[in-house]
Amino acid sequence: MTLDELIQKVEKARLEVNEHLIVKIVAVSKYSNSDAVKKLYNEGQRAFGENRVQVLEEKINDLNDLPIEWHFIGNLQKNKINKLLKLDPFMIQSINSLELAKEINKRATKPIRCLLEINSAKEESKEGLQPELAIDTYNEILETCPNINLQGVMTIGAHSDDEKEIIKSFELTHSIFEKLQNRGAKVCSMGMSSDFELAIKCGSNMIRVGNALFK
Ligand SMILES: *Cc1c(COP(=O)(O)O)cnc(C)c1O
Repeated sequence: MTLDELIQKVEKARLEVNEHLIVKIVAVSKYSNSDAVKKLYNEGQRAFGENRVQVLEEKINDLNDLPIEWHFIGNLQKNKINKLLKLDPFMIQSINSLELAKEINKRATKPIRCLLEINSAKEESKEGLQPELAIDTYNEILETCPNINLQGVMTIGAHSDDEKEIIKSFELTHSIFEKLQNRGAKVCSMGMSSDFELAIKCGSNMIRVGNALFK
């Protein structure tokens, strides 16, 4: 679908929840090249997401004349942390353990916006913190990692054909987000191409859409 079509769908979904809910779209460009990013940029899209440090670096180099807001959304290996920090992304959405937060904290020279990734469907194959540990871990990062500017939570919805399972994983993440609002959480990043409308209905205020925009 086009960016306009996506915006219209997001608009419809958010108005069904609350006219004050603002939903940010992160266009996930991992399936696509720099020219496609530039094209969407020219249509008005500003936030883009990548899940591999190497590819993020290539796109940043290709597009360094554009003030794009880059989000890192992938599993971050320890040996790639320095390289990622040098690229100075707008946000790292995929902090999935206290250890990773501490590593980034140690190497960062200034605070960086981050989200805590929650494995809300408890899928073995998925990265992310177990939901029961999320609140304690969030608080511990706040207390021990001054260079991690925690702004909220991120999750990938349940990989299922059963809408109820997907909704359950979004509702669980949103309930954790609500409990963290008094600790400064502002972002609830959930919803991808196949489930962003469901995610918005569960209170998401940031969606990460790849396939639907780039294919
Ligand atoms: C790839 C990816 C997306 C986008 O997925 P689509 O199904 O292509 O919309 C969103 N979030 C994360 C973490 C991803 O890796």
